[in-house]
Amino acid sequence: MPESSATPLPCPFDKRFPSQLVRDDAFFMSLAYNQAIDAWRQDEVPIGAVIVVGGEVIAAAHNTVESAKDPTAHAEMLALTQAASHLGDWRIEEATVYVTKEPCPMCSGAMLMSRVRRVCYAVPDPKMGCLGGATNLNDLPRVNHHVELTAGGVLEGECRELLQAFFKMKRKAPDAAEI
Ligand SMILES: [Zn+2]
Repeated sequence: MPESSATPLPCPFDKRFPSQLVRDDAFFMSLAYNQAIDAWRQDEVPIGAVIVVGGEVIAAAHNTVESAKDPTAHAEMLALTQAASHLGDWRIEEATVYVTKEPCPMCSGAMLMSRVRRVCYAVPDPKMGCLGGATNLNDLPRVNHHVELTAGGVLEGECRELLQAFFKMKRKAPDAAEI
């Protein structure tokens, strides 16, 4: 039983150790998943993102909204900024973004604005997802950039279980805000 509501409950999930030999979508999503584990360990909603160009990870981040007290500090936003900084260009054109949950309106918009080539997300979000879940910014008729999309199916079960367990734990915590 939790002794102190101020102490985050430990994350019951372990990081993944994917084979380095097969660098497929599941491999890179595993790295995003590990970012999400890091988020939980800091009492943040467990969402992680990595950005890959030419098989190389150029950015990795997780949600830090609580610690940064910044509503824009979503995993994807932080990763996009890292990637742009790495490339020295706001255009992140050859990039694939791997993220454990479907991007919200802000992050979906940022992905279009930064012209990423492809987005692969694990868990669709019918409430706030803007790349197919609730709506799809990719379908705006006059937008001249569209992202290739892999919508769900890559580590989807694992990433969903992580999110659901986190929110369940929060609801059980003595003074947790209702989520
Ligand atoms: Zn977002």
